[in-house]
Amino acid sequence: MTAPSVKLLINGQFVESQTTQWRDVVNPATQQVLARVPFATPAEIDAAVAAAKEAFKTWKKTPIGTRARIFLKLQQLIRENMGELAALLTAEQGKTLPDAEGDVFRGLEVVEHAASIGNLQLGELANNVASGVDTYTLLQPLGVCAGITPFNFPAMIPLWMFPMAIATGNTFVLKPSEQDPLVTMRLVELALEAGIPAGVLNVIHGGEDAVNAICDHKDIKAVSFVGSTKVGTHVYNRATLAGKRAQCMMGAKNHAIVLPDANKEQTLNAIAGASFGAAGQRCMALPVVIMVGEAQQWVPDLVAKAQTLKVSAGTEKGTDVGPVISRGALTRIEGLIERGVADGATLELDGRKPTVPGYEDGNFVGPTIFSGVQPGMAIYDQEIFGPVLSLVAAKDLDEAIEFINANPNGNGTAIFTQSGAAARKFQEEIDVGQVGINVPVPVPVPLFSFTGSRASKLGDLGPYGKQVILFYTQTKTVTARWFDDSTAGQGVNTTISL
Ligand code: NAD
Repeated sequence: MTAPSVKLLINGQFVESQTTQWRDVVNPATQQVLARVPFATPAEIDAAVAAAKEAFKTWKKTPIGTRARIFLKLQQLIRENMGELAALLTAEQGKTLPDAEGDVFRGLEVVEHAASIGNLQLGELANNVASGVDTYTLLQPLGVCAGITPFNFPAMIPLWMFPMAIATGNTFVLKPSEQDPLVTMRLVELALEAGIPAGVLNVIHGGEDAVNAICDHKDIKAVSFVGSTKVGTHVYNRATLAGKRAQCMMGAKNHAIVLPDANKEQTLNAIAGASFGAAGQRCMALPVVIMVGEAQQWVPDLVAKAQTLKVSAGTEKGTDVGPVISRGALTRIEGLIERGVADGATLELDGRKPTVPGYEDGNFVGPTIFSGVQPGMAIYDQEIFGPVLSLVAAKDLDEAIEFINANPNGNGTAIFTQSGAAARKFQEEIDVGQVGINVPVPVPVPLFSFTGSRASKLGDLGPYGKQVILFYTQTKTVTARWFDDSTAGQGVNTTISL
């Protein structure tokens, strides 16, 4: 039996692609083919953009309350369908069911935020900037915006994008990850059910060619990208060259610092969870931990904790570490572990080829820990994106901060300590976007924006929060004077003053 095809969404209709190029969506725990995803043709991409352009003419004038209520409805629908969404996500992505619910929930929070658009898309007004003159700003939508998303959060990251873009009055073309588009498509169905009109949200599928078509398309005004640094840098350069706004949230190599005064049990639990949870496939995972001074003696306890984690399918009760996304990813991660050994790091825990009863075909690699890791080793220099933790030793906090700031990436970081002074020094001096203090995965809630520094982010404004309102709108200033009898007869003024 052939697997069902994933549809495109063009002008409110789910349509079958006419392409000849397809790819399988595969369950990473079993290798079962769940669906076939098309690589949309150029004509289909054009049709999606044209539908979005046409819909913008009316959508941009839709009252705030109407836009807000769609997202109120969508948050309700997502809550009602949480179990189904999480199951779909686990089947195609591999993460555990509770973690899949977390993926959906962190996106749901952005939908809730979009429902409060009335308090967010507000201009400013200054009264009497000159005699009888007021100046105010309008935050107007841009037009057609596009989103390109990665495989690792197939619910949360699409929900970072289209709700805020549409709530601000734009129309949208989404290109989900071709590796796991099914939960994204279910969320899109719910968005239509919630009342998003035809053409306001469109979905195309594909890879490199579709992404390049988005970057080049003359009718797309802004591009949001989340994914690897290599692709994000390409998207940023190509899209901005074509005159678009771009925000690119990219790769990571997040470090934590453990000071010896940290609460040992809590810290080791936090590290094990953040390093190995979601099989290390989070952009905010913790693949590097710097043990400062006497904290280096905690390594055996950390290894013992990692050994207690259960590696199995995400659907199995009690699973801590699910499969990685693909056979290709598994081979790459196993190869990097081998290189770590060859490069001279000490393999404290080897998670390669774990026994997983009932799932012999799954893409499994268990928690893996190296100590004695240094820059120049492939396991340090590359983003492994698997459950592989590198331990580094440092003599004090200054050395640890310097080490982190020397890494090219600046996505997330954390410090574990009971010292307020040390934590404050860390937050001041570290050049990283998301900073955790005894919080291992400090992803900001949507009252704030996601950020990043150096190789982890291009573009000034981040997803969700207040920043994205500015990203998805054009600021217009209006300076107005209304004449009445008392202002008549001022004569010609050739100076620059109002
Ligand atoms: P990826 O860069 O391979 O893919 C992201 C998107 O780009 C996908 O939609 C894909 O189809 C497209 N793409 C892939 N190759 C392309 C190419 N050569 N040209 C044009 N487009 C291309 O990323 P991924 O493997 O899906 O996701 C994992 C990466 O995403 C990791 O690097 C992770 O750190 C990063 N990530 C970052 C954040 C963040 O907020 N900073 C969040 C999640 C994931």
